[in-house]
Amino acid sequence: MNRSRLLAIVLLPTLVSPPPIALAQQKGETPTLLDGYSRAASDAEQAWEEKFRAMPEPDNVKENMRRLSARPHHVGSPYDKDNAEWMLSKFKEWGFDAQIENFYVLFPTPKERLVELIGPTKFTASLKEPVVPEDPTSNQTAEQLPTYNAYSGDGDVTGPLVYVNYGTREDYEELDRLGISVKGAIVIARYGAAWRGIKPKVAAEHGALGCIIYSDPAQDGYGVADSFPKGAGRPKDGVQRGGVNDTAFPGDPLTPGVGATKDAKRLDIKDTPIITKIPVIPISYADATPLLSAITGKVAPANWRGGLPITYHIGPGTGPDAAKVHMKMFSNWDIKPLYDVIAKIPGSVEPDEWVIRGNHHDAWVNGAEDPVSGASAELEEARSLGELLKQGWKPRRTIVYCVWDGEEPGLLGSTEWVETHVDELRQKAVMYLNSDSNGRGYLFMEGSHGLEHFINRVAADIKDPEKGITAQQRTRLAVIAMSQGSNRADARNRPDLRIGALGDGSDYVSFLDFAGIPALDIGFGGEGSGSEYHSIYDDFYWYSHFSDTKFVYGRALAQTAGSAIMRMADAELLPYNFANTADTVEGYVDEVKKLLKSEQDETAEKNKEIDEGVFTATSDPENPIAAPKREDAPPFLNFAPLENGATALTASAKAYQDAVKAAEANGGADLDAAAIDEVNQLLMKTERAYFNPAGLPERSYFKHQLYAPGAYTGYGVKTLPAVREAIEQRKWTIADASTVSVGKVLLNESAAIDAATAKLKALTPSGEAVATK
Ligand SMILES: [Zn+2]
Repeated sequence: MNRSRLLAIVLLPTLVSPPPIALAQQKGETPTLLDGYSRAASDAEQAWEEKFRAMPEPDNVKENMRRLSARPHHVGSPYDKDNAEWMLSKFKEWGFDAQIENFYVLFPTPKERLVELIGPTKFTASLKEPVVPEDPTSNQTAEQLPTYNAYSGDGDVTGPLVYVNYGTREDYEELDRLGISVKGAIVIARYGAAWRGIKPKVAAEHGALGCIIYSDPAQDGYGVADSFPKGAGRPKDGVQRGGVNDTAFPGDPLTPGVGATKDAKRLDIKDTPIITKIPVIPISYADATPLLSAITGKVAPANWRGGLPITYHIGPGTGPDAAKVHMKMFSNWDIKPLYDVIAKIPGSVEPDEWVIRGNHHDAWVNGAEDPVSGASAELEEARSLGELLKQGWKPRRTIVYCVWDGEEPGLLGSTEWVETHVDELRQKAVMYLNSDSNGRGYLFMEGSHGLEHFINRVAADIKDPEKGITAQQRTRLAVIAMSQGSNRADARNRPDLRIGALGDGSDYVSFLDFAGIPALDIGFGGEGSGSEYHSIYDDFYWYSHFSDTKFVYGRALAQTAGSAIMRMADAELLPYNFANTADTVEGYVDEVKKLLKSEQDETAEKNKEIDEGVFTATSDPENPIAAPKREDAPPFLNFAPLENGATALTASAKAYQDAVKAAEANGGADLDAAAIDEVNQLLMKTERAYFNPAGLPERSYFKHQLYAPGAYTGYGVKTLPAVREAIEQRKWTIADASTVSVGKVLLNESAAIDAATAKLKALTPSGEAVATK
């Protein structure tokens, strides 16, 4: 999973008892009538949900975790299959119609790994995480995947060593100014700032031969917490595994866009674009220290220095004193089976509309936090829904519980399932709700903004286990404490908390970006801090000592996700709210306009400083740094198509929400299921109206025009990506074309909403008068 959203909360200023705050009263809604429900249905639903929320037990979540994380269970391992079969039997026991769906994917495992310093001194990296005596599963060495980055290209390379900070594009611009080239060198980058797969990608673009990534203790070790097992921090030999496959598309590298079934047509390995161009190996800071200490040459700028007790040099140095490294990375390029567990409860009224819930079950090693903390809650949620079935609850729509395999290497299990069933999903799916790692603290919510209001109302019904206030209220107060300006004002005054947009990092990607299904990702986090991520120490011992040790947030996650699934499954009218989306899109349009303006201002300022001689005057002759390159001023762009699109969207959203209010006031209960479903069928097309079938300008897999993972951020989202990334990358022709194409998509969305509005009004003819009162 993506660790950054938890860190985002952790890294913000700490809570220092915030002052008492008078929150604006939320107005305008009768809290007891659920959106999309008639009065009778709403009352019944709330009674069922209350029963449901009393069912999940922390002890069950804990025992699920003990079972699932008992042994290493990466893709292709015996315990991965064993876990899937155990979950299958559980789902069946709970009354689900369950099966395992297999896919066959390229999953490389290490054959040969070597990182050695060959000059001026000699050192060979251990590339090993030692057993910790207190930790009873850390000794399962025979089953543990070695430390590596999956989908590294094969290679045996030797070259001078250069430290590149985080290895982002900005870091290479700095290297340019320092007159340092990585051509023919091996680079060493620290984890952080961008997703790990960006580091070898950018290194290769600059001519490096190999890439080493290490965990610096400042962000990922004793700078965060005491070293494990004393505390939750990564010990000196701990290593972060992880995939480094390019983000051109998610899923199996050999079957882009189609399911990796047994007989699927596969690319040759040499033809897939997503394996790194150069070998890459992750190491611990114990292994990194001798390497970094051996580097000579320029001292790294202040913001490049990490938490090791050394002077950070950049290199490459000259002559016999220059640090030289030899690295080898070769994988077994095998096809491995995936075991997706898919369990259904058929809908009683609308069996052909699906509400889908998912979390992955595969891990890099034992994976108690990632992903078992989420999966254990998901299972407890499913058990509780099974109990409700026995008591007579019958969901209106079909509920599909999925536990994915192969998320860690590249969202394999979810992507292959979505690609296999994409036509059916586009016809039937009304929501995908994802979770992954879960911890203690605040509820975070990200996703499609048409679901922002929906998930806020669910969060308002969940009790925070530590504070007794609602999960929504606790997050609201945390946002006030941690943010500034308009974000803080929004948190105080806007009834719905703003939810973040989805980039990459867990199993929602293909649902949202490829199938066009409204998606949400939720979980708890932000309290406590650890850095055992993707190491052998992410296990039951670690989790039960340092994270949600009472498993009450596991229960809270089950309550939140389960309530959301029930509420979406039972609603008569799908509770999408387009006003929230329109409000968000207006904000995005403002942002890209400001982005262009600031690019223009910064370029003008930089060019002016070059003319004034600022850089020459401030360059220390004994440690010179060149002026940045002069750049052409960014042209003006025509944002009118975007503005027109956003305005139309806002008007359509308002008209739809007015029609809904009118229908509610008019007793939507009198409508029969067939009539209301005509509106639902139109609503189900609205997320896909954001699609451009051609995809993003340079990444055709990603169809959604509101959100996409960034080409150079990986996990990090880019909103209005076609426009925003073109501006950031100064591709003005693409930017110009994209304001037009995205503006058109916004008009398409507006038309899709208008169609639903017209249908709803036709069903509730007296609606107009009520709406305007
Ligand atoms: Zn995960």
